[in-house]
Amino acid sequence: MAYDPNNIFARILRGEIPCNRVHETEHALAFHDIHPQAPVHVLVIPKGAYVSWDDFSAHASDAEIAGFVRAVGEVARLVGVDADGYRLLANHGANSHQDVPHLHVHVTGGRPLGPLLL
Ligand code: C5P
Repeated sequence: MAYDPNNIFARILRGEIPCNRVHETEHALAFHDIHPQAPVHVLVIPKGAYVSWDDFSAHASDAEIAGFVRAVGEVARLVGVDADGYRLLANHGANSHQDVPHLHVHVTGGRPLGPLLL
């Protein structure tokens, strides 16, 4: 799938749409999900134009991948879910019900989440 430069997260990265920012680094931006599904629900997105985990893992530079993975860990520590535990989830493509076509990792926690239901 070709990257759509007008997807909502691209517009957030360009500052055209506001977000409730949690953290920002050279390679990543993190903000609270507008429809939280847990007491903590943050999205972490790479600054590069990647549709999904599949696109990112195949085409991003090692520096982008390392920076993004580190940022996800930093976010979990910043919002305080590292001690009790949290879940990371990234949807890719139609079968996963990915809505926004810019890679995002969901960081959820703040309560026992139960088993991952498929
Ligand atoms: O993984 P998926 O693409 O389904 O998730 C998209 C997520 O982006 C949803 O949890 C939705 O609430 C969130 N969202 C947001 N801010 C927007 C648009 C969507 O936090 N402006």
